[in-house]
Amino acid sequence: MAKNKRIFLSPPHMGGKEIEYVRDAFESNYIAPVGPQLELFEREFAETVGASHAVALSTGTAALHLALRYVGVVPGDEVFCSSLTFIASATPILFLGAQPVFIDSSKDSWNMDPDILEQALDVKKNDGCLPRAVVVVHLYGECAEMDRIMEICDRFGVTVIEDAAEALGARYKERAPGTSGRAGFFSFNGNKIITTSGGGMLVTDDSDFAAKVRFWATQAKENKPYYEHLEMGYNYRMSNVLAAIGRGQLRVLEERVKVKRCIYELYKQSLGNLPGISFMADGTNSFSTHWLSCMLVDAKSFGHEPQKICNLLEEHNIEARPLWKPLHMQPLFKDNEIFGGAVAEQLFECGICLPSGTAMTDHEINRVVEVIRSLCKPEQSRTMA
Ligand SMILES: *Cc1c(COP(=O)(O)O)cnc(C)c1O
Repeated sequence: MAKNKRIFLSPPHMGGKEIEYVRDAFESNYIAPVGPQLELFEREFAETVGASHAVALSTGTAALHLALRYVGVVPGDEVFCSSLTFIASATPILFLGAQPVFIDSSKDSWNMDPDILEQALDVKKNDGCLPRAVVVVHLYGECAEMDRIMEICDRFGVTVIEDAAEALGARYKERAPGTSGRAGFFSFNGNKIITTSGGGMLVTDDSDFAAKVRFWATQAKENKPYYEHLEMGYNYRMSNVLAAIGRGQLRVLEERVKVKRCIYELYKQSLGNLPGISFMADGTNSFSTHWLSCMLVDAKSFGHEPQKICNLLEEHNIEARPLWKPLHMQPLFKDNEIFGGAVAEQLFECGICLPSGTAMTDHEINRVVEVIRSLCKPEQSRTMA
């Protein structure tokens, strides 16, 4: 029997215009980093999120690396970071010889808990060693509580960098995530809301910040006729060809976010009433991208462990995964400090990311729903019908 077509977690979804812009890049022979598509992509992206400057880079990870370097992170420093996130929110801290200190999630938003952040800053202040910066993540496209986080960090005089890799197209009140802190960054990895196959973007309102990041990203080459270097740089610039893909993807961003949000609503309506199942909240101040639709499974009431659901979905050729494993639980960070931690641990234990590709058909969403519903005891499904 032919196997059902695989349903991926969040595969790339081209809009159609990308190939036109890529053709432009080919016809002008700008098969290089730097070129007209790159400049246009940066300008259009800055406009989209309402930032003064955008710098296109090879990855989101590279963007965070350069941002942390710019704000002065040096060996021996500490940098606060959300614990419940992808590893790339923290590894750039290590690149600079500094150490991450992790902050737990709040139950409501799953993002950095402002109360715990405030307590942690108090502790560090009393010890006379405030962190050089705080990396705040907007998890799965749900915005962190930026008003409070900014107020707290301003009070302690600590710089905020926003990891908005999963939140392009989200809104916090009227602002785009990534534009409240000193700088923010986005990712165009293949699984993100829009993709360039791989890529990242740093945004900031500070022109010196943007200029320095651009300079470091292109080997820190001084403006001289020969190759002159006063500082260490990197080869981190996005290529003109990939920027062309990004421009095409920007055209469909709004549509992609709309569909991501619809997928979340459909799952919530068809699964949210099952015993033991609940969904990631839709924040009060946040217009979430719902990059991935996430649900929590209370194994006692549902009757099965979350892993059992993932395994059964896999048997049906459907990709589903646990939430990010909290960074304070990672062997790599076994010696790093954590403030709180129980909330992130609990979310990891119960959470599942459901397939959320924007090209999914209703039929495919139903396939996911039916597999999960089939695990319910008959009398439970009956009450649901
Ligand atoms: C994807 C992602 C990153 C890293 O982006 P890359 O472009 O893959 O380097 C960082 N943080 C979070 C939360 C992400 O999801």
